[in-house]
Amino acid sequence: MVKRNNNIDKTLKNLSLNKEAPKSAFILLVLLYAIASFLTTRTSVMQGSIAIGGQMISYNSFTGVFSMLGYICIICLVMLFRRVGYIVSMAAIILQSPLMIFNIFVRGNLHSLPGLFSSVLIIGAISIIHFTYRKILKYQQSIREQAVTDRITGLPNRFACNELLTDLQRRGEPFVLVSVDLNDFKSINDTMGHDTGDQVLKEVARRWKDLANSLSTETVDFVARNSGDEFMIVISEYPSVEEIENTINAYREVLEKKITIDDCDYYLTACFGYSFFPEDSDVIENIYLFSDAALHEVKKAGSGSRISRFTPDVLNFERTLEIERKIRTALNSDKIFFNLQPQYDINHNLRGFEALARMKDDDGSFISPVDFIPVAEKTGLVDRIDMRVFELSMEFLDKITRETGTEIMMSVNVSVRHLMKNTFIEDIKNILKAHNIAPERVEIEITESIMIDSAEKALQRINEIKAMGMKVAIDDFGTGYSSLSYLNNFPSDLLKIDKAFIDQMNMSESSKQYVAMIISIGHILHLKVISEGVESPDQVEVLKKIGCDYIQGFVWGKPMPPEEAGRLVSSIKK
Ligand code: C2E
Ligand code: MG
Ligand code: MG
Repeated sequence: MVKRNNNIDKTLKNLSLNKEAPKSAFILLVLLYAIASFLTTRTSVMQGSIAIGGQMISYNSFTGVFSMLGYICIICLVMLFRRVGYIVSMAAIILQSPLMIFNIFVRGNLHSLPGLFSSVLIIGAISIIHFTYRKILKYQQSIREQAVTDRITGLPNRFACNELLTDLQRRGEPFVLVSVDLNDFKSINDTMGHDTGDQVLKEVARRWKDLANSLSTETVDFVARNSGDEFMIVISEYPSVEEIENTINAYREVLEKKITIDDCDYYLTACFGYSFFPEDSDVIENIYLFSDAALHEVKKAGSGSRISRFTPDVLNFERTLEIERKIRTALNSDKIFFNLQPQYDINHNLRGFEALARMKDDDGSFISPVDFIPVAEKTGLVDRIDMRVFELSMEFLDKITRETGTEIMMSVNVSVRHLMKNTFIEDIKNILKAHNIAPERVEIEITESIMIDSAEKALQRINEIKAMGMKVAIDDFGTGYSSLSYLNNFPSDLLKIDKAFIDQMNMSESSKQYVAMIISIGHILHLKVISEGVESPDQVEVLKKIGCDYIQGFVWGKPMPPEEAGRLVSSIKK
């Protein structure tokens, strides 16, 4: 098999930077121009006239139309074919000039004078168009280049990868998409800082780019960075299916060689999940989904580098469909309900509750939100669940306020998908109004990942929430690719430290310091901090010492039905 000239930068350029008009359009325009010029000359010297709609129109009247048509062709050539179009157009106009000059100055035929003027004017016009347009194009090109390039590594980004896949699909070429995730990269970021983490990513990107460009694998490869420590390799023109694993192994090998940064040595491993287009699916979104599913499956298997091909059972299709059916039934028959988990200040005074969605199976057993929320997110049902829980919890808050007069807080979880819906603010406002709830008593919990995935739009929405007077909490803090600058820019009120950190906290001094550091950062940014999943009095003690503001966890209260939560509030009141 002959290898295509494989260079990542070139492939990228071919894909998105140089989308030119087809050659056939060039030929057509030149031809049209030649015909228009010929007809301009002919009609200018033709005697007589033609009858149109009962009126006699002289042939000379058409001269202007044909010359205009010629100029339009010239302008199109310059705009569509840039340098070549400009040169050809200039040449065509200049070549006609000697005849006009001869007519005017030698034969004394002044009829050619307007033609000569027009030629001079059009030369000026297309020169202005060409040089101005060139500047604009250059600027556009640099913007496009930035749009398809990952800022940190200089590799093509996910958008570029998508372009390539769409191109391969259009050309009917089979390919393999490999999703790659570096193992334990988070620990490099956490222990050595993000600068070192970025340098490691750069080095990995450099090695993989060199490998892809070196043509030393038997396949044509394209490497892109997805986000964080996730990369993608697109393998095309493979001689056999067996060759895929050889190629992936080549990437694994160069990755596993020692990386030295600032005199520190790092040994990286990664997991690779891949799927075939079109064998596994001929829809690109599915190919992403499948290679990711293969990757996640292989990640579960433990440490070290691992490679896995997608198989349909990793998707757990049936289970997903089953849960989706159950969610729909539950929504339609009002069987989505909620529990409330108390949140306390560090001295064990009730702050309020977090509302958590609950759903029962046909046999009466509970299905965990950890199982049904992701399915609801995938199938677009999550906003209905969120709204149902929101409505129920506001109803509760209204009732408990009227009964006890207490002013507790209510935190509700909102998924990104729901938050981004155009009707979100309106829906929330209506419910608050219906139950006469002051917005200051409601807190919207959003996960940290939103700051990275859809920062700008999310920011706008969060500002709207804040403008209404509601509070914003960042849920599961520490599990995503947290960035201080994102955090600083987000107008939130509360940081919720994820249970994973609380679990680890008392196991080592460094884990404790880590939690202490998150609390300090929160306080520096004028945020309150709550620890989630606190299970033991020892943990409460430590959290008290390191300045945590609030506690939520089984130690002081599990999620409970609203009736029990009502009794809890009433008992405190007494
Ligand atoms: P989350 O928002 O981080 O909620 C906290 C989860 O931790 C709850 O799980 C809670 O029961 C559990 N938890 C709290 N304290 C402890 C503890 O001390 N030990 C242990 N082992 N677990 C504790 P749950 O109710 O299963 O909810 C899981 C996740 O589902 C929630 O995590 C949230 O992300 C999502 N979720 C729940 N309700 C909704 C909802 O109405 N809408 C949306 N979009 N997501 C929801
Ligand atoms: Mg939550
Ligand atoms: Mg949480």
